[in-house]
Amino acid sequence: MVRKAPSHFPRIRPTRTGIRCRCPRCGQGEIYNGLLTVTNCCACCGLDLSPHDTGDGASVFVIFILGALIVPLVFWFEVAFAPPIWLHLMIWPPVIMVLGVAFLRPVKATLIAIHFKNLRHKYNE
Ligand SMILES: [Zn+2]
Repeated sequence: MVRKAPSHFPRIRPTRTGIRCRCPRCGQGEIYNGLLTVTNCCACCGLDLSPHDTGDGASVFVIFILGALIVPLVFWFEVAFAPPIWLHLMIWPPVIMVLGVAFLRPVKATLIAIHFKNLRHKYNE
């Protein structure tokens, strides 16, 4: 259900709405209707989110962030404990997949909020 949209929305910092995965205009509505599927329209303010275009940007940022976090951890684990290779294969892929999804949601929402902030005319504002 779409509530009536107020005529003016205060500017909200993209990082604030992005980390909470909320609508970049009102800061209240959910931006996702699935794990990583962006909703077509904000349920609170009615903002059409279909013009968003983050492309692969969020994935690239997450790859860099996870690489900077995981690679030193793997090296430390190898030097400290010298585990067999099968133990590395049991530990790191699940850690990377879980952290990847956990980071991808807020990073993608932040990029959508930055896109909305800088290209409001594309969102029929
Ligand atoms: Zn909204």
